[in-house]
Amino acid sequence: MMQTNLDNIGILYVVATPIGNLEDITLRALRILKAVDLIAAEDTRHTKHLLNHFDIHTPLISYYREKEAERSEELVQRLLTGETIALVSDAGTPGISDPGAVLVKAARAAGITIVPLPGPSALTTALSAAGITDGTFLFLGFPPAKKGQRQKLLSSFVEAPWALVFYESPHRIDALLADVLTILGDRQAFWGRELSKLYEDLQAGSISQLLELATGKRNRGEFVLIVQPGSCEEEKKGENIEEILLWYQENTELSLKDVSRRIAKDLGLSRSQVYQKALELWAADKEES
Ligand code: SAM
Repeated sequence: MMQTNLDNIGILYVVATPIGNLEDITLRALRILKAVDLIAAEDTRHTKHLLNHFDIHTPLISYYREKEAERSEELVQRLLTGETIALVSDAGTPGISDPGAVLVKAARAAGITIVPLPGPSALTTALSAAGITDGTFLFLGFPPAKKGQRQKLLSSFVEAPWALVFYESPHRIDALLADVLTILGDRQAFWGRELSKLYEDLQAGSISQLLELATGKRNRGEFVLIVQPGSCEEEKKGENIEEILLWYQENTELSLKDVSRRIAKDLGLSRSQVYQKALELWAADKEES
């Protein structure tokens, strides 16, 4: 049975759908998708395939990232007039690196009951096979596509004591691994690729081993990458500040400010001291060239 709302306003169901294997749909998801008045889908054509497979004929409306705010208003109005709506994304759980949060927030603000249905997500699927023994992790979703921004993001988590979890596409996985190696060091890591599909691939090893597996290949399938926490390894980059600074200059696209902040923290020096040193060194470098 679907829930009924005494105020005669609708209910928003947030429905997780398979991330590759259609058998992973839950019985409850099927029942709700059949029973609601409308399904708001990230890509209606994509969801239509899923619905056809299960002989479900509920009307669809598109709900995608670029239209989230506008569409949310419209859907909230429909919910307020008593319609029940299921929100789905292309795969997995809506709102997890997928559209959904804007509608959920707007619906809650309008006093609409929200019912989340548990189900597949690449995040929890990968974590369940990763063996994170202390059970803590930080989900960072998709890292920035640009190298400089990606390195900056990574550098802000050098000291994080949790496993870092990323979503990544096949054509950027090697670039992400290379930056993790540069910025975070050769930590232990795990990837889950093509989860729940025919060519499911689970790999555990050091970042350099995973990088070797990914480099120069046509990496099929989407990835979840989990990077274990590591100890600070600044000293390995050089024997003194000058060498460490030069290492950053040669190997990263981080700004002087970011590099100084990081080295100062790791070596217990003042930031201005390191920054000054970096300025001198990099200025001297320019003069020479
Ligand atoms: N909302 C989804 C969820 O709950 O997992 C995630 C959507 S996000 C747009 C898509 C990303 O999730 C992919 O680029 C990949 O990193 C990850 N992903 C989705 N399906 C996957 C699968 N079958 N195997 C591995 N990673 C997957």
